[in-house]
Amino acid sequence: MAITGKIINVSLGPGDPELITIKALKALQESTSIYCPGTVDKNGNLKSRSLTILQELPVDTTRIHCFPVSMSKDRTEANRIYDQIALEIREKINKGEIISITAEGDSGFYSSGNYLFEKLSNAGLPITTSAGIPAFIAAGALAGLHVVKQEEKLIVLPGTVSTEELQSLIGKNYVIVIMKLSQCTENIHRFIAKNPSLHVHYFENIGTTGELYCQDKDKIMTKEFPYFSLMIIKK
Ligand code: SAH
Repeated sequence: MAITGKIINVSLGPGDPELITIKALKALQESTSIYCPGTVDKNGNLKSRSLTILQELPVDTTRIHCFPVSMSKDRTEANRIYDQIALEIREKINKGEIISITAEGDSGFYSSGNYLFEKLSNAGLPITTSAGIPAFIAAGALAGLHVVKQEEKLIVLPGTVSTEELQSLIGKNYVIVIMKLSQCTENIHRFIAKNPSLHVHYFENIGTTGELYCQDKDKIMTKEFPYFSLMIIKK
């Protein structure tokens, strides 16, 4: 039987609903189901940055289905949920539905939804992706930075970085973006302390009411980094 539905991997941008692309908004508006990943907090409540963005957009919120994404290194539970959702989506696609799977920032950039995407893609279902603005690009704009210029090189690190690695990269003139700061707080503090001449740009919750941009190293050194935080470091 020919598949008549389709799946669109929709990037929502980093938080400000105005930073979604027109293409992504159109995809959401034509979708009959919108799948939205979230995480379950200590009290069992589902939290989702993607959902917050969706709720501020002109889309039919009754079509939104949130699903929990496990952050645990053990992928058993996450895989069980992805299998279940993949099956659900498959059935809808066979009925001709248009499905959006949303991701915060750009969907191809450290996005948890990609496990689900891979499952659907491996099953041979028709998937397209709509590009979005990643958080570090929005961060650069917020600070009025020219993130990289001329011959400068850029490296984006996922939060599993050591002080020595950072030292080596800055020595090689890289502009460094660090995501998921809460995973490497101590290493970053040590690196900043050892290199007083660095330009450190710290950002949290870009594009939301809790947005913060800070260059004050004394403040950065004592801060607890929330999940939605990143840094751009320049020599
Ligand atoms: N797909 C996203 C990245 C998801 S990984 C993108 O394209 O940007 C999650 C990490 O992204 C967070 O730990 C944080 O480092 C960064 N991040 C995403 N959104 C953010 C925001 N609004 N403000 C600050 N950091 C953000």
